[in-house]
Amino acid sequence: MYILINDPQVKLRFSGETHHPKATTHVQGERPKSVMSTVGPVFNIQRFSIHDGPGIRTTVFLKGCALSCFWCHNPEGRRAAAELQFFPDRCTGCGACVGACPHAVHEFRDDVHIVHRDRCEASGACVETCYAGAILLNGQEMTVEQVMEEVLRDRAFYATSGGGVTLSGGEPSLNTAFAFDILEQCKSYRLHTAVETCGECPWEFLERLLPVTDLILMDIKQMAAQSHRSATGKSNERILDNARRLALTDKPLVFRTPVVPTVNDSPNDIGQIAMFVRSLMDLRSTRPNGQGVVGITYELLAFHRLAADKYRSLGLEYGASALEPPSRERMRELAEVATRLGVGTKHR
Ligand code: SF4
Ligand code: SF4
Repeated sequence: MYILINDPQVKLRFSGETHHPKATTHVQGERPKSVMSTVGPVFNIQRFSIHDGPGIRTTVFLKGCALSCFWCHNPEGRRAAAELQFFPDRCTGCGACVGACPHAVHEFRDDVHIVHRDRCEASGACVETCYAGAILLNGQEMTVEQVMEEVLRDRAFYATSGGGVTLSGGEPSLNTAFAFDILEQCKSYRLHTAVETCGECPWEFLERLLPVTDLILMDIKQMAAQSHRSATGKSNERILDNARRLALTDKPLVFRTPVVPTVNDSPNDIGQIAMFVRSLMDLRSTRPNGQGVVGITYELLAFHRLAADKYRSLGLEYGASALEPPSRERMRELAEVATRLGVGTKHR
């Protein structure tokens, strides 16, 4: 069984039993016998991350997301269940996978390799036989102990850079118990912890993670509910409500907007989001024990098309293929719009 470590070049083989990643969402309140044996679906562990919080970090990506943003940069994290990725460019046509799969997922017809994904039960049998690395099983149930083993490898770098560990996805809070236990373990090693959330989750899930989280990074993609629904599949109502609730805590918050053409790349779109962020700063500053506006920042992230190959490998349609990434000049202009509204803004 494989999981991507430091995507996309390195594959790590875990010893031990191969099993189906089926239990995907562990609800709040479930407490396993041993915290270290709590399991959850992981699709990537990215070492030396520098964009998911301060310093050098390890980002652990959990599978499953409630949104379906058409430009999603991590489409392999959207489905909760494990899924097959097939990279035709790497396939040598050896045919080993055809015999290995008990469900006839792989077929050669007129020398073309056809993958019947609807038949796949994610056993990973074909993956084991493919020495060309053309097939991956995306998503592996890992224990907290296995995650911590990876995370602790770079402990020295966290210490010298002020970094730590970030949970991302997908939406990490959907696997509440697993996420909590990883973060709690990280805190027991005095590591800085961050959670990247799309905000589309019950408040109780986020609330549960707060005591073991040092920083929340949260996306605000659109203020208009209907536009948000068209772009992501869901209204923004719960996301905005969760943002307000977070603003009423004293947790450092980074709100972020992925700037996507046709979705939110106009000065008006960014202006509306910036005004919302400004209102959250005001909300925080007016709390009875007032923390001022300290601890809330805003960032703009430019859409890119680097995920196109991932969509192909998953057999998914890539809805953003016709979009051009925003220029640096455009990003600078949009950041200025937010700054003029009193929200100092970084962009990249
Ligand atoms: S919220 Fe993030 S992970 Fe979920 S679909 Fe949108 S971009 Fe992808
Ligand atoms: S085992 Fe790998 S290289 Fe061989 S046919 Fe299957 S996908 Fe292609």
